[in-house]
Amino acid sequence: MTILKCSATTCAYNKDMLCSRGEIDVMGDSARSADETSCGSFRERSQGAMNSAKNGCGCETIQIDCKAHNCTYNEDCKCTAAAIDVAGNGAKTCSETKCDTFQCQC
Ligand code: SF4
Repeated sequence: MTILKCSATTCAYNKDMLCSRGEIDVMGDSARSADETSCGSFRERSQGAMNSAKNGCGCETIQIDCKAHNCTYNEDCKCTAAAIDVAGNGAKTCSETKCDTFQCQC
């Protein structure tokens, strides 16, 4: 599984820059740059998503379903990168996050 570091500390699932969700969906169907990707699983902390996150630990590895087909690490909608960085400092919505490890094979 992929090692995930995430800077979206405003996300309900973020625990010490790790994700506690267990699996995430990365969006970016037609993305050609990291800016066109986003973490579809982002939930702002204040939106009451804490309940669903309360049992999760901040695990280092995570299952990633990824729609960014143009990424070199994307194989059949799974991320094959050893480690990725999700960026989203101060994010309030999914669209303010991105997969910084995205590399276009275009
Ligand atoms: S590195 Fe590529 S395949 Fe992996 S999550 Fe990021 S955009 Fe998707």
